Amino acid sequence: SENVKEISREKSAALYAKAQTYFPGGVNSPVRAFKSVYGVPLFIKKGDGAYLWDADDNQFIDFCGSWGPLILGHNHPAVREKVIEVMQNGMSFGAPTALENELAELILSNNPFIEKIRFVSSGTEAVMSAIRLARGYTKRDKILKFEGCYHGHSDSLLVKAGSGLVTFGETSSAGVPKSFADETIVIALNDKEALVKAFEDFKDQIAAVIIEPVPANNGLLLQHKEFLQYLREICTANGTLLIFDEVISGFRVSFTGAAGYYQIKPDILTYGKIIGGGLPVGAYGASAQIMSNVSPEGPVYQAGTLSGNPVAMAAGIAQISELLKPGFYEDLSVKTEAFINDITAFVNERNYPVNLTRIGSIFWFAFDAKETIRKAEDIDPQSMSKFKQMHFELLNRGVYFGPSGYEVGFVSAAHTTAILDKAKQAIFDSLEVIFG
Ligand code: PMP
Repeated sequence: SENVKEISREKSAALYAKAQTYFPGGVNSPVRAFKSVYGVPLFIKKGDGAYLWDADDNQFIDFCGSWGPLILGHNHPAVREKVIEVMQNGMSFGAPTALENELAELILSNNPFIEKIRFVSSGTEAVMSAIRLARGYTKRDKILKFEGCYHGHSDSLLVKAGSGLVTFGETSSAGVPKSFADETIVIALNDKEALVKAFEDFKDQIAAVIIEPVPANNGLLLQHKEFLQYLREICTANGTLLIFDEVISGFRVSFTGAAGYYQIKPDILTYGKIIGGGLPVGAYGASAQIMSNVSPEGPVYQAGTLSGNPVAMAAGIAQISELLKPGFYEDLSVKTEAFINDITAFVNERNYPVNLTRIGSIFWFAFDAKETIRKAEDIDPQSMSKFKQMHFELLNRGVYFGPSGYEVGFVSAAHTTAILDKAKQAIFDSLEVIFG
């Protein structure tokens, strides 16, 4: 396939230079700095449907979708119009509004896994609060997480595995006290033996096990249902709460997320991204009995000036309402499956070292993988150089992926088959340049 011309990044480069004088690394969230891919970060000017436009007026088919929230695509009319309508009456009151009831009703009446919910403003906040609730409820301090699952940037969770089957975590960020990391046990995904050992080593000490049931922050490390089922059983047997962090998978792999997809009931669920329709919203939910421990009903404190913000609730209401329409998830999944199957057939025919994984409308390109990867340590860091090349080739052909090979891609309802066919051709051409 032909080499194509490199896109212009002149305006983005100027904006980035300016941004570096304002923000550490020139950004307000690290991955945006394009450190793992080629060139300066693209500054985005506009999004509409499946498309993005950058400051230099390059147009892209977007598979990042703001990292997951935009399941309807950019600037969906129903979301935009609802937001504008609600904004006419003011933007924040710090007092209850009917909109919070409306969003809660839409969620709770369609979700058999939670009876009460609390809205917060980000995924990080949702998970941090869920952990506190689990600790308050069980009166235990330790939590167990899995290497390769991301749960936001709260102190207890910026912890990575040490060496050994079951370890106290080591902090993965400066500024996290070692004593915090000592309360977080970290084990590998898909490892029943490590799980059993953790519950033996820390008998009656583990407040909660937290997992992304669809691990999607370090590649897409799909777990066997049997492993998740086992997790449920071992938690129940040990008086430990099971937290499903569904900030990505919630309202994505099905309306009821991975809990619904696998039919496994966790004790606490966390949501973010899609629930806010692109505005800052997170949430955690559980049975009425567990949630009764949250302030002001119970002793676990948690609050927020902008929690349940009316504009954010409006976006959530509009977006969630669309998802409840019959066939929404089937259509999205069928479309994504065909897209990914065609790419899989293409790479297999040519023996390119590419493995694609998919669940619903989430997908991931793994390079140089011998088999389906289910744990973080099985990802070869060297293989990321292939993603880096693909990312560059794709931008030059009008396709935007999140700027890291550890990140998954998202298909939205706005990605028509025609748009997906165009993206597919760009992917074929890019892979041919790299592997052909
Ligand atoms: N949990 C999971 C599973 C996530 O994917 C993320 C964000 N990618 C978070 C928590 C943190 O959410 P936020 O970035 O909104 O704080």
